[in-house]
Amino acid sequence: MTETSSMKAMTWRGGNNFTSDQLEIPQVIDKTCLIEIDTAGICGTDIHITQGLFPSPENVVLGHEFSGKVVDVGKGVDKNLLNQSVTAQPVGGCGLCESCEKWSLSHCEKNKRRAGAFSEYVLVDEKGISVIPDNLSIQNAALTEPAACSLSCVEMLKKPLPTSTAVVIGNGLLGLSTIYFLKEMGIDKIISSEIAESRRNLAKLFGSDITIDPTKTDLAEVVETETNGYGADIVAEAVGNPNVIKNCFELIRPRGQMLLVGVHPKGSYLPFDLHDLHFKEISIFGASGAGNSFKRALNHLPNMPLEDIISGRYPLEGLPQAIEKSANAEGIKFVIGPND
Ligand SMILES: [Zn+2]
Ligand SMILES: [Zn+2]
Repeated sequence: MTETSSMKAMTWRGGNNFTSDQLEIPQVIDKTCLIEIDTAGICGTDIHITQGLFPSPENVVLGHEFSGKVVDVGKGVDKNLLNQSVTAQPVGGCGLCESCEKWSLSHCEKNKRRAGAFSEYVLVDEKGISVIPDNLSIQNAALTEPAACSLSCVEMLKKPLPTSTAVVIGNGLLGLSTIYFLKEMGIDKIISSEIAESRRNLAKLFGSDITIDPTKTDLAEVVETETNGYGADIVAEAVGNPNVIKNCFELIRPRGQMLLVGVHPKGSYLPFDLHDLHFKEISIFGASGAGNSFKRALNHLPNMPLEDIISGRYPLEGLPQAIEKSANAEGIKFVIGPND
């Protein structure tokens, strides 16, 4: 690769504005790899950023869910990675700093995120990279990061897990993978609530035992019947809507656990009585990003029913349309193929 070679990238300029730019292809430095992007997914966070609901600096290339091929490696990187199909955690984590040790690899103080994946190439730290297993397509491997966000959240639950009932509200990709991981962890009965019929059908494939449409069925009544009036052991909110949190609280049994899987707009506050929270002894957990769960999530992906998860693929310049489609919840996951 010559120093003059350039690449296309979509730069976010605030609001719904993106510009298609020619940028220099990043040069590898020690312990980094250059990846030619195959697939980059649109995340709910990207939508929130364009809507001003998630803090982000402007004039940056977004995109943190991706897969591709290693086309160059820096000093200190295993040369066998060259030409391998890989996916990567945007921040790999040094594993040694205070944040890596006591928070998670996603929040590493040293190993910062380098660039975004809505471009033809991206530079990533070797530590974040995972080779894609043979039984997973390169396109579906771009689902590792969002699946890892759910897994990281589910892994927050206090162990041992109760073997009874969990409720998962919202069955987009985060909700679907939450259902899958809860089932994998041994939860007996999963009740899921979702307005879109196509998503309810997917919820069954991912392991939901009872799927309801909350516009037609009263979720609280179903939970009451299915738990003999005690409430669910675990309630996961995978919508990112503060109004839904109030309902979650009412569905949960004493000593139950609440999971905040969805990303809430900054400035949202708990909408329920703190006396009740104290009295019912409820624990609330959330996780931000893939945390320490990226590689474990990748190992699960080949076994997950991913056939109908990618709802549309767009060229790089189609990014604004793909974000609009995602914002309208017209499918599950829209992706960009920057080198298509
Ligand atoms: Zn994401
Ligand atoms: Zn670190």
